[in-house]
Amino acid sequence: MASLSDQLGDLRGRRVLVRSDLNVPLDGSRITDDGRVRASLPTIRELSDAGARVIVLAHLGRPKGEPEAKYSLRPVAARLGELLGQDVAFAEDTVGPSASETVAGLEDGQVAVLENVRFNPGETSKDDVQRGAFADQLAQLAGPSGAFVSDGFGVVHRKQASVYDVALRLPHAMGRLVATEIEVLRKLTVDPERPYVVVLGGSKVSDKLGVIDNLLGKADRLLIGGGMVFTFLAAQGHEVGRSLLEDDQLDTVRGYLSRAEASGVEILLPTDIVVDTAFPTGDREPQPRVVPADRIPADSLGLDIGPDSGAAFADAVKGAHTVFWNGPMGVFETPAFAEGTRSVAQALTEVDGLSVVGGGDSAAAVRQLGFDEAAFGHISTGGGASLELLEGKELPGIAVLERP
Ligand code: ADP
Ligand code: MG
Repeated sequence: MASLSDQLGDLRGRRVLVRSDLNVPLDGSRITDDGRVRASLPTIRELSDAGARVIVLAHLGRPKGEPEAKYSLRPVAARLGELLGQDVAFAEDTVGPSASETVAGLEDGQVAVLENVRFNPGETSKDDVQRGAFADQLAQLAGPSGAFVSDGFGVVHRKQASVYDVALRLPHAMGRLVATEIEVLRKLTVDPERPYVVVLGGSKVSDKLGVIDNLLGKADRLLIGGGMVFTFLAAQGHEVGRSLLEDDQLDTVRGYLSRAEASGVEILLPTDIVVDTAFPTGDREPQPRVVPADRIPADSLGLDIGPDSGAAFADAVKGAHTVFWNGPMGVFETPAFAEGTRSVAQALTEVDGLSVVGGGDSAAAVRQLGFDEAAFGHISTGGGASLELLEGKELPGIAVLERP
């Protein structure tokens, strides 16, 4: 990839807005997984080294268009400073007086983080005018010689002010992280080496069902774990107790099952499930129990795939030359329900070929379970964005960069 200076011209002294994805999991003000902060470093460093005055735009969580202390980026800005090894200024608003003052105080090579862009209703508004007005204010911060670098891979599938509209207003370029992500994920869509196995799990069931539609024509085997399992089991007529279930998707899932059979794509479902009578909370010792997948007790809920399924999924993964995995196999945050996720993660590290992990929680699981990130071909920082790329959709935040 050409350097950002090659693309944007000499950056010395210019204010450059960078949209990064710093949406990290927090426990109070403690960052429990800083993977996304680290992934944003190469672009920020490159800009800083080129003498730009770097203004980082990011969001945290889902505030409702107004400031909310628990979603402040302040602790994230502090972590960014530690990792960069240089002071990082923090503005207490996004386009208000604190931002103006902070930006005015930047010298060449210095970095500032502005407060959560989602504290402004214009950021995620569906109204082009409202979003545009906010993007105008952001662009003004960059000033007449300003530029925009899009590096928040986790949000490039969103038509939002700091992702999309600001790119219409400033000279723009794609950041290192986004460029790397796209390069790797395109390998999965363009002629993947076979067998190509996709493992899906997690809890955003209806989001992910859409991907299956597209994958039925591409992957050789589809392994289903996590919260999605129960909609499949219910579609086959089984009792799923109090497990996660999307009733309104049952017909869709039945359609997938029959299409898979007709097209020769194998959908592998777990044969055993780890259940408990309550969702794990801090106050209660988990009481995990393994049951056959077609006999989940009515008073229980499925919280992980069972050991037989973990072994079968691992074998299927190891037999592949291309693997994409999105979504934990169980509620891995609790050790009693982490073994299915561990089996799959371990198998990915043993793949002879390309193994890709996508999704914020899946990436966090890999690190939490103690795996070496380098053992995977690629760990994507974006769940929704990576799935949409795989689905073959046009991502607004990428398409806009291709416009002059
Ligand atoms: P990703 O961020 O990797 O795309 P998701 O956000 O879809 O993944 O889902 C991650 C969450 O799914 C985890 O917090 C995990 O606890 C939860 N999960 C996994 N299996 C189950 C299950 N059987 N029931 C409820 N939640 C589950
Ligand atoms: Mg997630």
